[in-house]
Amino acid sequence: MQGSAERALGVHRVVAPSGVLPRAALRLDADPAIGPDEVRIAVRRLNLDAASYRQLSESCGGDGDAVRTAVVEIVESRGKMQNPVTGSGGMLIGVVDAVGPESPLGLEVGQRVATLVSLTLTPLRITDGLARWDGRSEQVPAQGTAILFARSIAAVLPDDLPDAVSLAVLDVCGAPAATARVVERAAARSVVVLGGAGKSGSLSLAAARAAGATELTGLVRDEAEAAALRASGLADRVVVADATDPLAVAAAVGTPADVTVVCVDVPGAEHGAVLATADGGTVVFFSMATSFSAAALGAEGMAADVTMLVGNGYTPGHAAMALDLYRSVSGVRALIDPRVHA
Ligand code: NAP
Repeated sequence: MQGSAERALGVHRVVAPSGVLPRAALRLDADPAIGPDEVRIAVRRLNLDAASYRQLSESCGGDGDAVRTAVVEIVESRGKMQNPVTGSGGMLIGVVDAVGPESPLGLEVGQRVATLVSLTLTPLRITDGLARWDGRSEQVPAQGTAILFARSIAAVLPDDLPDAVSLAVLDVCGAPAATARVVERAAARSVVVLGGAGKSGSLSLAAARAAGATELTGLVRDEAEAAALRASGLADRVVVADATDPLAVAAAVGTPADVTVVCVDVPGAEHGAVLATADGGTVVFFSMATSFSAAALGAEGMAADVTMLVGNGYTPGHAAMALDLYRSVSGVRALIDPRVHA
């Protein structure tokens, strides 16, 4: 029997290997029967994290049926949605359908919520075989159950936004919060966002502006994204380069910035991000495709005096901040809406 601190982290749901935290587990117990401190969610929709979805889609050659089968198999075998290659998950929305008497989360049966803890540590059971999903989008209509622990976090979904929009924004809500915090603490003027036309990228640009940055550069992969980002007005300067080509990134960015935020969903952006950042500056690696060793050894090898931060998905107030940026900044909506509806 675990102590309450361990239970609060969900250790009692770990099937194998024993003794690890749920995120590191190979398999979780996704039994829908809840303990006194747990909450059960009736799942409505999953949002696969962008790096995970891209990897699954590419490894299945873009075959949606194969992607669906792969996701169902992962959830059945692991009791959670954690891509074994990227290690990442995503989050979900659903309706609270049971609350244990000792749960400290303050949730009530019937509330529509988004879980703000990763799917990589959330016990999950799928009951519809994902039959309503064509395997061609990050958002997955789904039926089943998910379990929240005492130390999980969830946000009640706003009534003024479509659920699909809330899900997309909340999935990446750590990015604008982390960006704002770094810009404020460093009193940064110049910010480069790699992947500036994506969901986390557009929110990070808007957050950097709101936090006082005055020279915003968005780096995007092609002219189509450049046109969309220019039209959004979120960046002062838009440059086109492959974020995985360090020399191309350095040439496109020019004078290195005080802060660089990595919001691409592909591996290999570490060295370009370091080169894009001025000595004494900060890189925020929000991308789940980031390699710690590539970032650390790359910076060392370039004698780059930069602070490198892992983009923690959690910052107090992150959900409200991201939703407010979506509501208040038309450029953010212009970039995120087409991705949600795609
Ligand atoms: P997104 O909306 O798909 O945005 C990613 C952007 O990067 C897209 O505009 C994409 O362009 C662009 N891109 C891809 N490859 C590129 C390249 N080689 N050069 C330049 N641009 C490139 O993704 P998102 O939802 O914002 O997620 C971004 C990252 O955040 C992912 O790695 C995801 O795993 C991570 N994430 C982290 C957390 C956390 O807690 N730290 C939480 C959620 C997500 P195209 O659309 O043209 O491909």
